[in-house]
Amino acid sequence: MRSIVSDYLADAIHDVDVNRAGALAGYIPELANADAERLAAVFATVDGTVYGAGNVDTPFTIQSISKPFVYALALADRGFHAVLAKVGVEPSGEAFNEISLEPGTGRPRNPMINAGAITTHALAGSPGVRAAARTQRVIDGLSAFAGRRLSVDEAVCTSEMAHAHRNLAIAHMLRSHDILTEDPREVVDGYIRQCAVLVTTRDLAMMAATLANHGLNPRSGERVVEESVIRHVLSVMATCGMYDAAGDWATQVGIPAKSGVAGGLIGALPGQVGIATFSPRLDEHGNSVRGLQLFEQFSADMGLHVMSVPPAARSVVRSHHVVGDGTNAIRVLQLQGGIRFAGAEKIVREVEVAAPTEHTVALDLTLVSSIDNVAQRMLRELTRRLDEGGHRMILVDPESLFPSPLPADAGAVDVVASLTGASAP
Ligand code: GLN
Repeated sequence: MRSIVSDYLADAIHDVDVNRAGALAGYIPELANADAERLAAVFATVDGTVYGAGNVDTPFTIQSISKPFVYALALADRGFHAVLAKVGVEPSGEAFNEISLEPGTGRPRNPMINAGAITTHALAGSPGVRAAARTQRVIDGLSAFAGRRLSVDEAVCTSEMAHAHRNLAIAHMLRSHDILTEDPREVVDGYIRQCAVLVTTRDLAMMAATLANHGLNPRSGERVVEESVIRHVLSVMATCGMYDAAGDWATQVGIPAKSGVAGGLIGALPGQVGIATFSPRLDEHGNSVRGLQLFEQFSADMGLHVMSVPPAARSVVRSHHVVGDGTNAIRVLQLQGGIRFAGAEKIVREVEVAAPTEHTVALDLTLVSSIDNVAQRMLRELTRRLDEGGHRMILVDPESLFPSPLPADAGAVDVVASLTGASAP
């Protein structure tokens, strides 16, 4: 059977194909002469399935889409505090190449504008590493996000370097504030190589899927960076990824995203999918025109906005009943689905509102798919209080969702794999 998702993507790119608005980036001949008609869209799921339509394997330079990934590498290599001391996390509402630094500190406002990205490039690798090794660390890191070895477009790199006056000016300003402590030219050189890494739309979707999959590449299985780094990166993408169009993007599309001047655009929807589009004509902010149109359509058609309110937790208690009778009666709360704060609150409230009269109370997790940390803590507090109130507690946990042995703060609890055979004393 033909894939429903691929057919959807083929229809979507067909719909935007007529849009000729925007212009190619013109600051170097290699970008000005690109084929403006190229168009592609790819979805990569967090379990590694890839769906695409259009020119999904056409290579182009990653440009500014490298910024969130290199920010992730800097955070992984130097830690949050060291990076935050040099680069802020506030949206600047300014163009990507604005020459502006925070008054007083000289810090770039965020890592998505060039000033911040040049600084984060310098923070990749271990302190004191030589420029060439640092650039290699960056290219290796980008390759790990993509799950394959990426190379550099040398012609674009050379041409960018010859036209790098503005980025050099930014780097010299950063050096004058001691935000950069090394030779500004070497750092810009490395940053430009980073921007000239060749990717396809398929690569970008896999890189975005690695962000969506908490830092684990869905294809190679490699853990590229820790989950805490990813949350930080996605937050900055959500607030600053689209430069001076970030607010519009947040309301219209609502997916953490990043664009590049060669026409690429990525979005990472946590826990679901990495999305990439490619179409080289740009709007006045430097974002791909047809890419924006595609993302607006994806978000509306598929309910992908991260601020969409998820289904309520009302169904976590599947049933609340008594098995057996007399002194053998067991009050059973059969739970289901994924349990987070709102679900755990519902369970705890049910018990608080109608205190069980039976001596034995069982929490049955057989149909539960996941319980996050806060929900585990709340259910342990519930078992502790019931134990303290004189009840005998049973936890039916066949998939070992709770750690074994249960932490002592849960009170006295019998953990069993099934309720059959577990009888009241
Ligand atoms: N190499 C470009 C620059 O630094 C990247 C900018 C972009 O993609 N927005 O100016």
